[in-house]
Amino acid sequence: MRAELVKNVSRVVLKLGTGVLTDDRKQPDLAQMAQLVAQIAAQCQAGKEIVLVTSGAVGAGMGVLGYEKRPSDLAELQACAAVGQSRLMATYEKLFAQSHLQVAQVLLTHDDLEHHERHLNARNTLVSLLGHRVVPIINENDAVSFTELKFGDNDKLSALVACLLPADLLIIFTTVDGVIENFGKENAKILATIEQVDQTIERLASGTTSATAVGGMTSKIQAAKIVIRAGIPLVIASGKKPDVLARILGGEEEGTIFIPQPNRLKGRKRWIAFFHHPKGSLFVDDGAKKALREAGKSLLPPGIAKCDGDFSAGEIVRLCDLNGTEFARGICDFDSGTIKNRELPRAEVVHRDNLVIL
Ligand code: GLU
Repeated sequence: MRAELVKNVSRVVLKLGTGVLTDDRKQPDLAQMAQLVAQIAAQCQAGKEIVLVTSGAVGAGMGVLGYEKRPSDLAELQACAAVGQSRLMATYEKLFAQSHLQVAQVLLTHDDLEHHERHLNARNTLVSLLGHRVVPIINENDAVSFTELKFGDNDKLSALVACLLPADLLIIFTTVDGVIENFGKENAKILATIEQVDQTIERLASGTTSATAVGGMTSKIQAAKIVIRAGIPLVIASGKKPDVLARILGGEEEGTIFIPQPNRLKGRKRWIAFFHHPKGSLFVDDGAKKALREAGKSLLPPGIAKCDGDFSAGEIVRLCDLNGTEFARGICDFDSGTIKNRELPRAEVVHRDNLVIL
């Protein structure tokens, strides 16, 4: 199964977590970074296209500005990110140069990928860099992005970058060996393959307590949901092991692999499904849910039980069932006022072509 999934992989998004890049004192671990870069460079030289999503800016900046714990003040956190990001890039540039590879820094905010033209533009930039055999190194533009408008964490950012390109494979390197059942207990076991992210899997993941990291396994599972829906496989593995990248790309059993859903989403549908913070939700009755999920229909006015939030016509909304569970996203052809006042004509409210079942 693994060998089959990675056989034709040529474009990879690789996320390096803070824990993988720093030592026990939370300082950038140069020996570790060097061994990772050597592995990545070897794959680039063998013809793979690798896009890095790196964390560690805040962590590196904390060291420089003398913080032991992540500062809670936003401006201080952003100051750490700004100081640390340039340190991080300087290190990558030096290490990749040893393998005669050029790197490029790309700092993204959520807005850059939400707006459709900017989304396509960011994609074109990354593809051009890969065409020049440059290694793009992406991080969130933490120095300026606000809490409410953030990607949230770099696991999610890496999933979105994989959807943006699109990549053939997402790899997340962390400090543990994969998704682990009975973590910390005697009968702990790595789950080699995950075919479906259900509640059992979600429960396995617990938040992190590290002083520098952000998301722990929970955010990785959320990232998994995005890419597997898009049709892209994900491997979560330890970035501290020698040769781990070559082993993964060689189809060997390393970490946990998430099997993608078979119906790969096209670019516009990926953009509709994953790149927005919707301003509103439409709650639909069971009949409408069934017609949308099972019969491939558009959403019509009678199926809408409730509308929440304020949005304009043409914006993306969540489609939820009556329990409040989101099951789809789509572009709504009417504004929230018209829907709330029941002034809708007999027309599609969310057209099938503009809708993705999640
Ligand atoms: N962008 C943050 C940093 O570079 C990390 C966010 C994360 O690790 O999820 O420090």
